[in-house]
Amino acid sequence: MLDKEKDKKKKKHSKSANKTVKVKTHKAPFEFEYSDAPESRDIVKIKERNLLYINGQWQEPSEGSFFPTLNPADGEVLAEVAEASAADVDKAVQAARKAYEGTWSKIPAHERGKYIFRIARILQERAREFAVLETLDNGKPIKESRDVDIPLVASHFFYNAGWADKLDYAFPGHKVTPIGVAAQVIPWNFPLLMAAWKIAPALATGNCVVLKPAETTPLTALLLAEVIEQAGLPPGVVNIVTGAGKTGAALVNHPDVNKVAFTGSTEVGRIIAKAVAKTNKKLTLELGGKSAHIVYEDAAIDQAVEGVVNGIFFNQGHVCCAGSRLLVEESIAKDFVEKLKERMSQIRVGDPLDKNTDVGAINSHRELEKIRGFINEAKEEGWEYFSASATELPGKGFFQKPCFFNDVGSAASIFRQEVFGPVLAISTFRTPQEAISKANDTPYGLAAGVWSEKASKIQKTALGLKAGVIWANTYNKFDPSSPFGGYYESGWGREGGRHGLFPYVEVQ
Ligand code: NAD
Ligand code: MN
Repeated sequence: MLDKEKDKKKKKHSKSANKTVKVKTHKAPFEFEYSDAPESRDIVKIKERNLLYINGQWQEPSEGSFFPTLNPADGEVLAEVAEASAADVDKAVQAARKAYEGTWSKIPAHERGKYIFRIARILQERAREFAVLETLDNGKPIKESRDVDIPLVASHFFYNAGWADKLDYAFPGHKVTPIGVAAQVIPWNFPLLMAAWKIAPALATGNCVVLKPAETTPLTALLLAEVIEQAGLPPGVVNIVTGAGKTGAALVNHPDVNKVAFTGSTEVGRIIAKAVAKTNKKLTLELGGKSAHIVYEDAAIDQAVEGVVNGIFFNQGHVCCAGSRLLVEESIAKDFVEKLKERMSQIRVGDPLDKNTDVGAINSHRELEKIRGFINEAKEEGWEYFSASATELPGKGFFQKPCFFNDVGSAASIFRQEVFGPVLAISTFRTPQEAISKANDTPYGLAAGVWSEKASKIQKTALGLKAGVIWANTYNKFDPSSPFGGYYESGWGREGGRHGLFPYVEVQ
C-alpha cells in the first residue's frame, strides 16, 4: 500500500474512532415505569429452627447453639440455624464412614446412578421452591436463581448420575475406586450450585460426604438434605453440618476424611492447604479471581457491552470468575465506555424477588462494607468513577449500584484486588501482546473473555492467557460437562466434566 493511502486510511480510522456515540446517561432512557412483579414467597416454608442433617436424621447441635441467617434484601432474620461443634462434625464423619463401608461402596454402580438421577428429578420438580429460597437467603435476583442456578444444579446431578456406571469409560484402561469420605466446604455466592458441584461427582464415584454450607446461606443446602431423604438415599451417605469457619476447620482437619474440597477465599484456601499438607488427604481448591475481558476493535460492540455487563454486574459481582477487569482496545475505548454507561443506566437494582430485577442484594453487611472500602480506596487514588442504575436503591437491606473506574493504571488497587462486588476496572491496550500481558498480570488465573470477529485472533489470544476458562464472544456460560478451575492463586484442580471425577477416585 502506498504511504499516502495508508495515511488516508489511518485518518479515516482515527476519525471514526474519535466519534462519540450520543447517549443519555445518568437517567433511565425509558419514559414508562415498570410495574412490580414480585414472585410469591408462599411456596417456601422456612423452619424457624434448623437442625443438623447427620446419618439421615435431623439432630440437635451438641452445644445447643444456633445462629441467624438473614435476608439481605431487608436485613431481617429468616431462620435460626444450628452451629455444629467439633463433636457434631465427628458424628457426621463417622456416619459417612459407616455408610461408605456398609452400603455406598458396596451397591452396584448403576444403583448409585439411580439415586442420583432421583435427586436430579426431585430438584426439577421443586425448582421454584429452591429458586425462591435461594433468592431469600442469598439476595440474588429470582431471574438468576430461577433461570441459572437451579437448572444448573439439576443438570449437574443428571450429568454425574450418568457417569456412575460408566467410570471405566471416564478413565479408559484403568480401574478406579472411590476414596472414602469427602469433607466439602462451600461459599455463599452460589449456595446450592456449589453444593451440587461438590456432592454430585463425589456420590457418582462412590464416596460419602459431609458438606458445610456458608453461614450466611445455609437454607438451600438444608432443603437439599430433604430432597436426599425424599430420594431414599441410605443414611449417612450425605450429611449436612451448618456453622461458620470453626465448623469448617473442624471438618477439613478431621483425621478420618480422605478428601477435602473447598471453594472460597484464597486466604482460607491457604490455611487449608497448609493443614492438609501434613496429611495424605486429597485436596481441591476453588478460590478467587480477577478475570479480564479483552475487547478488540473488531468485536461486535453491543454484544461485548452486554457480555461485560453480564460478567460483572449480574449476580452483584458475587462470581469467582467475574469479569472484573475490562481491557479494551484504545481505538474504540471511548465509544465502548459511552455505550457501557448507557447500558448501566438501564440496570434495575432492587428487590431480588421482583422478576424485573437485574441486580439484587449484596449477600451481607460485611461484604457490602468490604466493597465500599475498595470503592473508596479507588476514589482516593483518583481514578475516574462512574455509577448508574435505572432504579433508586431500596431504603433497607444491603445494596450497591453497578460502577466502574475508567482508565486505571495496572498498579491501581482496583485493578489488582478481588472486590467480589459490582465494580469494574477499565484499562486500554494497543496490541494483542499488551492485552495478554496486562490480563496475565495478576496473581490469579481463573477466567477470561476474548471479544473479536476474528477466530484466529481469539485463538492466538487464548493461547497466551493463563486462565482456566476462556470464553470467546460470551461470558459466564456454564455446563456440567466442561471442567472449571484456575491457575496460581485461583486454586488447584478442576470441577465439572470428566476432569471433575478425578479428585474423587483412586486410579489403579
Ligand atoms: P471464606 O473463604 O471466608 O468462606 C468460604 C467457606 O469457608 C465458608 O463456608 C466458611 O464458613 C468456611 N471457612 C471459613 N474459614 C474457614 C477455615 N479456617 N477452615 C475451613 N472453612 C472455613 O470466603 P467468603 O468470604 O465467605 O467468600 C468470598 C470469597 O470466596 C471470595 O473472595 C471469592 O473469591 C471466593 N469464592 C471463590 C469461588 C470459586 O469457585 N473460585 C466461588 C465462590 C467464592
Ligand atoms: Mn442469608
